[in-house]
Amino acid sequence: MQIPFNKPFLVGKELEYIRQSVLSGKISGDGSFTKKCHQFFEERYGFLKTLLTTSCTDALEMCAILCNIKPGDEVIAPSYTFVSTVNAFVLRGARIRFIDSHADQPNMDENKIEEAISKKTRAIIPVHYAGAACNMEVILKTAKKHKLFVVEDAAQAIDSFYKGKPLGSLGDMSAFSFHETKNIISGEGGMIIINRKPFIRRAEIIREKGTNRSAFFRGEVNKYGWVDIGSSFLPSELIAAFLYAQLEHLDEIQNRRKAIWKKYHEALLPLELAGKIKLPVIPDYATNNAHMFYIVCRNLKERTALLSHLKSNGILAVFHYLSLHKSPFYKNFHGKKPLPNADRFTDCLVRLPLYFELSHAEQEKVIKEILKFFKG
Ligand SMILES: *Cc1c(COP(=O)(O)O)cnc(C)c1O
Repeated sequence: MQIPFNKPFLVGKELEYIRQSVLSGKISGDGSFTKKCHQFFEERYGFLKTLLTTSCTDALEMCAILCNIKPGDEVIAPSYTFVSTVNAFVLRGARIRFIDSHADQPNMDENKIEEAISKKTRAIIPVHYAGAACNMEVILKTAKKHKLFVVEDAAQAIDSFYKGKPLGSLGDMSAFSFHETKNIISGEGGMIIINRKPFIRRAEIIREKGTNRSAFFRGEVNKYGWVDIGSSFLPSELIAAFLYAQLEHLDEIQNRRKAIWKKYHEALLPLELAGKIKLPVIPDYATNNAHMFYIVCRNLKERTALLSHLKSNGILAVFHYLSLHKSPFYKNFHGKKPLPNADRFTDCLVRLPLYFELSHAEQEKVIKEILKFFKG
């Protein structure tokens, strides 16, 4: 039995909707499936404005443009995150001030933000790791005090909440991903959420190559032209058709993932109680959207041995981010400030197979091999 880390899946009418969109004669962007996706998100989560993008990376690049990031500006972000979180801002010339993770979970330590703020700081980028909310109250208060933008990297955070509010709705703007490794997928794909009215029009323009084509199609202007910078950030209808079919089954997908997550948690709890591993921590203010199930080993050597034990038994578990403050590209800009918690998650965190079609027998096998490794 080979058990992959992740597996893309069909859950409903994906192929039928792709066929429909081809037959309708329109497969470029902003057709009926794109509009259906926007409507779904705005109705279900109350987002002010939703725009599908070609990826979360692109949504983040739009955010950096919307925040008017200029060369020399500074942006505060966790080190333990994906490259795109900060690369989007570096493309506009920003310098990144990396913040450490919490000791018990990978989200950025909100108490370390204030000391990283300077006169040049423009934005804070919280990343909701594994779909569990950052401490948004503190982050939003700090941002307000220093007049900074908050851009949520909600790539992993679909259908997850902070004190009852949907993630993605708390910052000035936010970015989601539908990459095939996320809960809801479209291969590549993403979405920007705009939570402040004055940004909406400019977001539409940036997404449409710097033109006011969206306003033209609504009949608000009588010709469209080049009015700002931008790029081609809107996805094809084929992507939106696939995505919409997944959204129709969002609850089913979430319930299945949560069941898998809960089973891992119950089965591996004895290992945590025996002091052999740490399990995910979900703070009181956060919900669990079962984006990921991870365990934290005691050290790098043990993690390497665990991954190879699983691999030799046909199970692909994987580590995750390499702290960006130590990356070949950024280490010389970061300086010497140690970020020990980010480093520990870099060395010790393991993600277990978790996908919609993971069978009962497959999950049993993953659990059995982990217990065997730790002699649990
Ligand atoms: C997946 C992910 C991204 C990038 O998403 P794409 O849609 O692949 O561009 C960015 N940030 C985080 C935290 C992610 O997990």
